[in-house]
Amino acid sequence: MVKYWVRRVRLAPFDSAKPHPRGVEMASTMTFTATKKNLLRILAAIAATAFLVLTAACGNADASGSSPSSSSTAMSKVDVAVSVNQWESIAKTIGGQDVDLHVILSNDNVNAHEFEPEANDVAQLEAAKVVLVNGVGYDQWATNAARKGRGDIVDAASAGGIKMGANPHVWFSASVRKAAAKAYLAALEKAAPQDKATFEKNYQTWLSGEDKLDSELSAARAELNGKTYAATAPVSHYLMKDLGLTCETPTGFAQAELNQSNPAPEDIQEFQNLIKEKKIDLLVDNVQEANSTTNMIVEQAKKAGIPVVDFTETMPQQYPNLDAWVMALTKNIEAAAKK
Ligand SMILES: [Zn+2]
Repeated sequence: MVKYWVRRVRLAPFDSAKPHPRGVEMASTMTFTATKKNLLRILAAIAATAFLVLTAACGNADASGSSPSSSSTAMSKVDVAVSVNQWESIAKTIGGQDVDLHVILSNDNVNAHEFEPEANDVAQLEAAKVVLVNGVGYDQWATNAARKGRGDIVDAASAGGIKMGANPHVWFSASVRKAAAKAYLAALEKAAPQDKATFEKNYQTWLSGEDKLDSELSAARAELNGKTYAATAPVSHYLMKDLGLTCETPTGFAQAELNQSNPAPEDIQEFQNLIKEKKIDLLVDNVQEANSTTNMIVEQAKKAGIPVVDFTETMPQQYPNLDAWVMALTKNIEAAAKK
């Protein structure tokens, strides 16, 4: 008898979809004798029993579903918003279990320069306690929304000393990545001083990965230094600089791309001559912002036997983090330069 009862009680929480056995028993007895008052009382008892079973089941699910090494509860996590997914992995690695992360733009099939946030994106940026933005006008919509909120804004470009008007693709710069990570760490520590030690530890983890990337970039630079390239869009600028390549993109063409305007016919002609005369070792194409002009240039380069390296603005989903993406692009550049 006792054994049976114990089994019932243990099983009940896992079987919350079915009515509680005791409730069923009570409900069937009731049909004979119940007055209206009794009926209500019994129904209340059934409801209370069912509620207990459900809360037990939910409590159980919560306990097994939450992460084991979290140093704080869900309630005290720092609400962090990141404008574009190029900065997501830094935010995630340093924030660890102590942040609740919202990334606004992760789609590499849209023109990142023309992105407009939805109302709920703006609401997340306004509500966040820390907002990590790229800066230098790349994601002005995020800075504008964050300024209306009360959170701390970490501007990656300005942390790295990049001024407005400069090339905005700063996530590809080793020095900007390091400066941005430090500024973000400081903002997290201000937002949640109780988690300072964890953030510091996470930052060191991130830094050791970044140092490893640095030495791989140096090794690649030893091979690539002095090679030349031209780009259909200026997305690769900082990585190419870190790798020691020289940019030969006609100035007018590059400036038009930066301004999101159409290059002048003479700039396109200059680009075509560069390819015809094989004055570049490789061509960089920004496939996320392809248009008829850039497609024509890519076709010409292929015909001329100039290797083409594809870039995107937004980080493709296949990469676990920014460093892995930078490394993969570096390998592509190395392979192309050997052709
Ligand atoms: Zn761009």
